[in-house]
Amino acid sequence: MEELSQNMANYDYYLESYNAILGGFIGTYEIKNAETNLYEKKYGLKVFSPIAGGYSYSHYDDFGNSRSYGYKRVHLGNDLMGSIGTPIIAIESGYVEACGWNQYGGWRIGIRSFDGLRYYYYAHLRKDHPYNSEIVEGSIVTAGDVIGYLGMTGYSTKENVNNINVPHLHLGLQIIFDPVQKDGTNQIWIDVYHLVNFLRQNTSAVYYDKEAKEYYSKNDIINERD
Ligand SMILES: [Zn+2]
Repeated sequence: MEELSQNMANYDYYLESYNAILGGFIGTYEIKNAETNLYEKKYGLKVFSPIAGGYSYSHYDDFGNSRSYGYKRVHLGNDLMGSIGTPIIAIESGYVEACGWNQYGGWRIGIRSFDGLRYYYYAHLRKDHPYNSEIVEGSIVTAGDVIGYLGMTGYSTKENVNNINVPHLHLGLQIIFDPVQKDGTNQIWIDVYHLVNFLRQNTSAVYYDKEAKEYYSKNDIINERD
């Protein structure tokens, strides 16, 4: 009995944690019906694999492995090995919070979920043409959109340098309950390996626009923000 009440005492904590991670993954959204051209309301999984449909990649659970560039630290993400130029997809909708060069991540994008709880970090994007041209700091991205391209930039204080040995997407997911956790020593990064495997079931199909020299998603989704 004591044990049971103890678990119940932690219920709110677990609920808050699970909600912070999974809360934005399922919900209502509108998607265009290709035949009728009308938007239909749907309920379900509204997050996508970070790798575009039809592109392959390999990965293993490398969360917590040690890294040595700059200073000794642990790996707070999952590396998805693939070909340079593979379109990278926004897993969840949100705001572009960070975009540009970082000596560790190279060309990287940070996207914050609308509820503010999840921060997706996509790093080592392609040299010369890392981002989809519509990506700027502050812009809104929709789940399934092409945000950039896989590459091997990073590990350099100089911009636009390929200094990563194997082309891959570094994917990180930070949970932010309180704004003070965003930077500094109390950051919470979760192991996304199983999440990436789970998202294989929902890939975003893309097409190439020759004039724009850019890939775009074939999805037509309107997100409903809570
Ligand atoms: Zn990595």
